[in-house]
Amino acid sequence: KSQSHYDVVIIGAGPAGALAASLLTQGQRKVLVVEKQHFPRFSIGESLLPQSMVYLQQANLLDAIKQAAPKLGFQFKNGAAFFADQHYCYFDFEQKFSEGPCDTFQVKRAQFDHLLVQLVQDQGAEFRFGHSVTEAMFNDKCQLTVENEQGEVEQISAEFVLDASGFAKVLPRLLNLTQPSDFPVRSSIFCHIKDGISCQQYDRNKILIETHPLHRDVWYWLIPFSDGTASLGCVAKPDFFEALGHNHGNHEQALEACIEQTVRFKELLEGAEKASPVQHITGYSSNVKQLYGERFALLGNAGEFLDPIFSSGVTIAFKSAKLAADALLKQFSGQTVCWESEFALPLQQGVDTFKAFVQSWYDGQLQDIIHYESAPENIREMVCSILAGYAWDTTNPFVQQTERRLNTLGQLCAAS
Ligand code: FAD
Repeated sequence: KSQSHYDVVIIGAGPAGALAASLLTQGQRKVLVVEKQHFPRFSIGESLLPQSMVYLQQANLLDAIKQAAPKLGFQFKNGAAFFADQHYCYFDFEQKFSEGPCDTFQVKRAQFDHLLVQLVQDQGAEFRFGHSVTEAMFNDKCQLTVENEQGEVEQISAEFVLDASGFAKVLPRLLNLTQPSDFPVRSSIFCHIKDGISCQQYDRNKILIETHPLHRDVWYWLIPFSDGTASLGCVAKPDFFEALGHNHGNHEQALEACIEQTVRFKELLEGAEKASPVQHITGYSSNVKQLYGERFALLGNAGEFLDPIFSSGVTIAFKSAKLAADALLKQFSGQTVCWESEFALPLQQGVDTFKAFVQSWYDGQLQDIIHYESAPENIREMVCSILAGYAWDTTNPFVQQTERRLNTLGQLCAAS
């Protein structure tokens, strides 16, 4: 057994872990990222939001990402489009209330996450792949047990641990901090396709979301990449998929049956071919009792995960990493940090804004709002800002009073 000591050990090399490692390394801290898998590895979560570009810029990663984008099939994205009840509408992120970038990328996460890791390695952070954190002890230091693929075990100590382990939620599970989500269990079936879309009206620069013609809580995503492929998926409660025969585990047949029930997707994807196995994920919404503790904090999905509808996952992961890295650099410089007011509360502000949007989407109210194109222009710009990820801009009334604002606007739509 060998012993090594770091300022910060980060569990997981996804977007949250990589960004935190970048910021801390540039702040001259000794950082180790322990990652269970080998990169490139598949991850779902392929449509980014313009807000996330701000965090990449702050970590000095954005220029290299933009440069690599064409080669890696990253698709320029400048908005979100919606189709329901024969009605198509879209939000152009140029027309948003908040300051900040108006565009971003849709990315195959295997390539995107791998690139991030390579760039952060170049900045000087140390990564160990094929290593899992299996135990954690907290006293005057953090003591982690790390196991490699040969089953060899090593103790690593750190001043602080950031858990960026995604749905694995390593620390919440070890410390008994997991808590059910406020949202019901939903599932998703998805794959990559060669989309073969020839329709002139189709806008590749936007994610397309279609609502099921009969069930408003069932929706589909089409996330194009720049190499002629796209990510295609459907989200619904498990009983919807079971009614399509999905309980026999045939994801492919279930996805085909789902698409058969759409209007716009069916037309667009006439010439599509499958480009990856069809996958299924269920019960991904999750919460935790606390986002930090003595010597640890939870980043990205290791904290709360809401729902995929507004593509907010990577943006929240980056935001949590930025807040935690800033707090840690302050703490290491000898200043006192209040993790509640400098990490948990500011993070929660934007998460709560997205949460109210997700709730309102499934209630149907936000779907009416989105398709109500005669809303006053400034109000549409405020909604557009949230769709672009600017959920922490407290000058936006939809951030400060999300539910009240959505209800008022929803009533206006219903009355017209
Ligand atoms: P991850 O990217 O999951 O990284 C966690 C890493 O930790 C993994 O690499 C894993 O191998 C590693 N790990 C796990 N256990 C251990 C261990 N014991 N030791 C060491 N390492 C470990 N988000 C978007 O922004 N846009 C979207 O369009 C979008 N669509 C989605 C669609 C669906 C159906 C779902 C379910 C989610 C979607 N998301 C989307 C959310 C997105 O996938 C996540 O929010 C995002 O990947 C979170 O990043 P992360 O860094 O927290 O975790």
